[in-house]
Amino acid sequence: MGKVYLVGAGPGDPGLITLRGLDLLRRADVVLYDNLATPALLSEAPDSAQKLYVGKKRARHAYSQDAINSLLVESARKSDVVVRLKGGDPFVFGRGGEEGEALAEAGVEFEVVPGVSSAMGAAAYAGIPLTHRDHVSAVTFVTGHEVDRIDWDRLGHAETLVVFMGLTTAGEIARRVIAAGRPASTPAAAVRWATRPDQRTVVATLGDLEARVRDEGLKPPALIVIGDVVRLRDTLDWYERLPLFGRRVVVTRASAQAADLCESLRRLGAEPVEAPAIEIVAPLDFAPLDRAIERLHEYDWLFFTSRNGVERFLARLDQSPRDLRAVQGKLAAIGPATADALRAAHLSVDVLPEEFVAEGLIDALAEHPMDGKRVLLPRAAEARELLPETLRERGATVDVVPAYRTIPAPSEAEFQAGDWITFTSSSTVRNTVERHGAETLARMDVASIGPVTSQTAREHGLTVAVEAAEHTVDGLLEALVTATAAS
Ligand code: SAH
Repeated sequence: MGKVYLVGAGPGDPGLITLRGLDLLRRADVVLYDNLATPALLSEAPDSAQKLYVGKKRARHAYSQDAINSLLVESARKSDVVVRLKGGDPFVFGRGGEEGEALAEAGVEFEVVPGVSSAMGAAAYAGIPLTHRDHVSAVTFVTGHEVDRIDWDRLGHAETLVVFMGLTTAGEIARRVIAAGRPASTPAAAVRWATRPDQRTVVATLGDLEARVRDEGLKPPALIVIGDVVRLRDTLDWYERLPLFGRRVVVTRASAQAADLCESLRRLGAEPVEAPAIEIVAPLDFAPLDRAIERLHEYDWLFFTSRNGVERFLARLDQSPRDLRAVQGKLAAIGPATADALRAAHLSVDVLPEEFVAEGLIDALAEHPMDGKRVLLPRAAEARELLPETLRERGATVDVVPAYRTIPAPSEAEFQAGDWITFTSSSTVRNTVERHGAETLARMDVASIGPVTSQTAREHGLTVAVEAAEHTVDGLLEALVTATAAS
């Protein structure tokens, strides 16, 4: 018999789940989720986990609450870790109470993991504190689902009101609150999809809330916050002012490497859209790399031109009878991410160029004699020849050994366009264009990590809108921010 975890997913920003919640999600055998639980979190569950949508929106057969309750009980009978992922907090208008009761009644063990309720999410990300020492000292959470069931006379005096599920009844609610004695000039805000890059906030007063929501075409899910604290948004609205707020940015790098870029984009307010063009896999033949590892001590230099090159080389070394002590030569890295991968293995880098392309690495080597030196270059099966050729011209013996290979990623759902599409390597350009066609991509602004990638993009019929000045992921983000500020 397994256990059911009622886990709060938070309001939308995937960074807002708790550590406990994330840990359980990563160990889940079954995940039952609905439309308020952010999709980005689902990818945290193991591939082998069964993921079941039990929401009321997209499903062909909407699950009733009874059906969900029985499904939870059944799942616990079959699997060990059953995660019921719920938007916001499970015990705030989430029917988590009912699910817990059903589990208790069926004798199923359960645990409740709180989450950041959308009330807190909206408050933080719309810049509206729910309490404030100078303004208010009480806050009430109320549902607007059935307006008649609420005693607005009593609530109307609460200083800050947060209304869940009240967007479609906003006008009626505002009238009741006014009738209960609050001035029609009281500020009110409706916040849709709080904490997500598509967050929208409509600021109004009780008097014109209904009209403003209608005019702005605001749709659920949204929260309404009523009270003087709404005014503080003028000063405290940090999220919607982020440099890339609301921009959709397509990320084409392999999913294993996309996480950092996606996370940085989110912290700048953007919505990352993952469309991995390539996948990093083992080379067709490990023999050349294995032979090089056997004679590792003979190399005067080890050159790495990507983080993948480092990671794949080290992984293969781990599987061999040798270890890091066999590395005797100097180490060169093409850029900071590659250097970081070496440092992560406690290896310090002897040469790191100023410009993070092969040409830069060649320049950086000017002061190092290469004549008669043995060089190992573990890298992608297909890559530019410039570096090995130049090293050979300078008298080195260069062993280029495939440490990994990039292949087209299995194509998944339909391509989702963005405002921007980012390319971090030539192979992502080639594979994205091959799959989706240059025309589909032409509708987006292309951002490239550096001149080699830009060149490949142009060769494939794309116009490059911005190119990173520093050829790193951070440089790429900086270029996006600058271009967005200028537009
Ligand atoms: N347990 C959830 C609430 C579920 S009730 C929580 O703690 O947040 C569903 C209602 O929550 C929606 O109708 C809407 O009013 C609100 N809601 C949930 N997520 C939201 C979000 N990201 N932005 C705005 N409102 C949200």
